Amino acid sequence: MAKAAVSVELSVEDKLRALYNLQKVDSERDKIKILHGELPLEVRDLEDEIAGLQTRVEKLEIELKDNQTAIVNKNNEIDESKKMIKKYEEQQNNVRNNREYDALSKEIEFQNLEIELCEKKIREFKYKIDEVNQALETSRKFIDDRIHDLDHKKNELEDISKETAKEEAELLAKSEDLSKLIEERLLTAYSRIRSNARNGLSVVTVERDACGGCFNKIPPQRQLDIRMRNRITVCEYCGRILVDKDIDTPLAELEIRMMQEREVVDDSKEKRSKRKSARTKLDS
Ligand SMILES: [Zn+2]
Repeated sequence: MAKAAVSVELSVEDKLRALYNLQKVDSERDKIKILHGELPLEVRDLEDEIAGLQTRVEKLEIELKDNQTAIVNKNNEIDESKKMIKKYEEQQNNVRNNREYDALSKEIEFQNLEIELCEKKIREFKYKIDEVNQALETSRKFIDDRIHDLDHKKNELEDISKETAKEEAELLAKSEDLSKLIEERLLTAYSRIRSNARNGLSVVTVERDACGGCFNKIPPQRQLDIRMRNRITVCEYCGRILVDKDIDTPLAELEIRMMQEREVVDDSKEKRSKRKSARTKLDS
């Protein structure tokens, strides 16, 4: 495997540096995601809400039609009853006795009650239609508002994406390049820790004698190990990979720098002691 061949050539120090740089690049990518923020989520929520409202409008439209049909039916029933009444009234003109007349009167009375009942029902249906129409109006207005919001959010998201697309692509390429330097096993561990950590940090530096991820103290011997860069050290509390703050600088270079610093210190010590001895001479 070409990937393994590359990583074999890397020293532990180089691996640690690659991991550290990978973390930096991936953290930059996380920052861009944060910049996009809640927008993608908000867009999806709005789309869901609009779909829900549209379903509601469809249901209301069906309810409206049902009520309108019911009114038509009741009006037909009224027409029927009226026809019957007319027929009974005509029959009343040709009755042979009072009993027949009374029976027809009863039928007419019954039909009139039927008409009243239908009219009552029609009033109820009309009332319901008013209600449905109001609900429809409100829902449609909601939909219009949400569509307006959605357009706005989509544009916003598009603008941000356009701005960051190039940067994102570059960072992704960098991340992929760095990943190629790191052996599979280590990379898997890196990704696992990263996905479990809330801040996406898998590789952290030692900060004030503590893990830069969970802030638990690191024993001095362990800190020394980390500074030596001879092996991969993980935090015993949070499992993050620990590197020293100067990991970007090769150890050899760091040693030279430390020596120079020591010389400066020694130098000033020397000057101080010279001054001191000069003063002692003056005093004596
Ligand atoms: Zn930790």
